[in-house]
Amino acid sequence: MSTPPPDSTPGATKPSNFLRQIIEHDLSVGTYASRRWAGSPGDAAHHAAAPPDTAKIRTRFPPEPNGYLHVGHAKSICINFGLARDYGGVCHLRFDDTNPEKEDTEYVNSIIDAVRWLGFDWSQPGNTAPYQASDYFGFMYRAAETLIEAGHAYVDEQTAEQMRANRGDFGKPGVDSPFRSRTAAENLARFREMRDGLHEDGSMVLRAKIDMASPNINMRDPAIYRIRRATHHNTGDTWCIYPMYTFAHPIEDALEQITHSICTLEFEDQRPFYDWLLERLTETTALPDGRVVGGLLSAPPPRQYEFARLNLTYVITSKRKLAQLVYDRKVSGWDDPRMPTIVGLRRRGYTPSSLQLFAERIGVTKSDSWIDYSTLEGCLREDLENTAHRGMAVLNPVKLVLTNWDEVFAAQGGASYLEPCSLPALPHPPEGTEAPARHFTIGKEVWIEREDYEEAPPKGYKRLYPGNKVRLKGGYVIECTGATQDASGTITQVLATVVPDTKSGTPGSETVKVKAAITWVGVADGVRAEVRMYDRLFNDAHPDAGGKDFIESLNPNSLKVVTALVEPSLANALPDQKFQFERHGYFVADRVDHVTGGKPVFNLAVGLKDSWGK
Ligand code: ATP
Ligand code: MG
Repeated sequence: MSTPPPDSTPGATKPSNFLRQIIEHDLSVGTYASRRWAGSPGDAAHHAAAPPDTAKIRTRFPPEPNGYLHVGHAKSICINFGLARDYGGVCHLRFDDTNPEKEDTEYVNSIIDAVRWLGFDWSQPGNTAPYQASDYFGFMYRAAETLIEAGHAYVDEQTAEQMRANRGDFGKPGVDSPFRSRTAAENLARFREMRDGLHEDGSMVLRAKIDMASPNINMRDPAIYRIRRATHHNTGDTWCIYPMYTFAHPIEDALEQITHSICTLEFEDQRPFYDWLLERLTETTALPDGRVVGGLLSAPPPRQYEFARLNLTYVITSKRKLAQLVYDRKVSGWDDPRMPTIVGLRRRGYTPSSLQLFAERIGVTKSDSWIDYSTLEGCLREDLENTAHRGMAVLNPVKLVLTNWDEVFAAQGGASYLEPCSLPALPHPPEGTEAPARHFTIGKEVWIEREDYEEAPPKGYKRLYPGNKVRLKGGYVIECTGATQDASGTITQVLATVVPDTKSGTPGSETVKVKAAITWVGVADGVRAEVRMYDRLFNDAHPDAGGKDFIESLNPNSLKVVTALVEPSLANALPDQKFQFERHGYFVADRVDHVTGGKPVFNLAVGLKDSWGK
């Protein structure tokens, strides 16, 4: 799957949104026109010597590699990579791996796969690897020392409880720490001791010195570095102090010359600190001793913009909660087809274009709302409608015997005779092409759906009941004569006679009128398949809203496995290949358990019609 071609008129063909308006404004007034790009991330000096940046904008997608990406991340990926593509820019893939405890290379690889699979690419001339925030630890340390020297940060030795108590709350201003008025030299010495491992984990932190009375609690001297003896997957034991996310993130953006740093709304309250920090690190400060510090980062600094995160009904989009489903074995793994992870959606039959269409359709807004799950399914249906090959499958089979077959086809061999049939695999083939054909045979015995026979038909029933005629789709018109039952009253065989000269597509076949055509699969060439019928994972539209225990609303019937019979064209499905099982819905050949017990495996991707909320 490749990245769609860039629009010739930047952004012009897409519906506008507030992010597009901001970018278009910045491009028209040249907000970032003076930026330079040294080919790799770095400080002001690194970029100053470089040529002007050829990327008109720089965005980034910065996942923490602590889990698998989900449908919400897909939205963020489509936004960030999509904007860069549409406006002649570049989008960086950056692993936000500043927290030493939780990262894992399994997650790193899955994130790389997910972004590529969605159709996006972060590589730029001379640079194909994703960025890692941990590569910037050295710079972050330097930035912290600069803040200390300029009087913008101090080492606080209050206990965590004291700090919490002194922070105040919405109605109450905070109280200055007794350590707040230390000299820069004292703070620097203490911070270096922290770095050198002379103090216990948690015994002190470095804090920005802003305003303990700020109405925004995030501005009440936030912690920016903590002591944590943990081995980091990239930097090993080099560091025993680690930057806090709110300090690290703006610096990562600035080193990478990001122009538009797009995040979800919960970071709105962090924006003042984002701006405060980058301002302090781009400006220069003359110290009392005559030295000048600062000017570490190039100007103009990046700016942060917030959009509403995706909330999807019947779905949870928290990595932590998804992990709980996996570890408590409520699902078969991160790629269980019921999971909203990108690997799960993919295994369910979702395509990159269906997810891109979804991201476009839901748009970008500044206020939180719930998107109906059916919107996601509609996008998949729309994508598969014209591309998925058709095939017949019988999910709940009962045998139908054509009792006059031997006589009607006596000349061709009688009971064992099989008549070749074919139907187009696509109802609407692409312009100028002919639909590929599917081939199968009809014989004396075929499988039909159990629900297609009624001994005593309800009013309006048009399928098989004694005396009624239907067409076996792509085959013959048949007339039902009855059925056999076992002692418990279960139908064991449906009986019918074939009406000669009515085969689909032959001259005169339409002279016998019927009210219904039913799907079927030949007993001779039908293939047994395992079909996994998936349903929503939760019965509650908002499974984890308001602190609810989402485990309680797990749908016990979210997976039913049936042995179906499928026509021969489906028997050799390739892993990941999508089909429309006529009348049943869209199915995908499972990419993990491609064959089980000798049977091909198919997953229900989405039904033919929207059945949600009905
Ligand atoms: P989670 O809470 O599931 O762990 P996260 O926000 O912590 O998600 P990150 O790896 O930090 O996960 O996210 C990477 C990017 O994806 C961030 O920019 C974040 O804003 C965005 N993102 C995460 N969840 C959603 C969502 N539901 N809708 C839109 N964007 C999201
Ligand atoms: Mg996060």
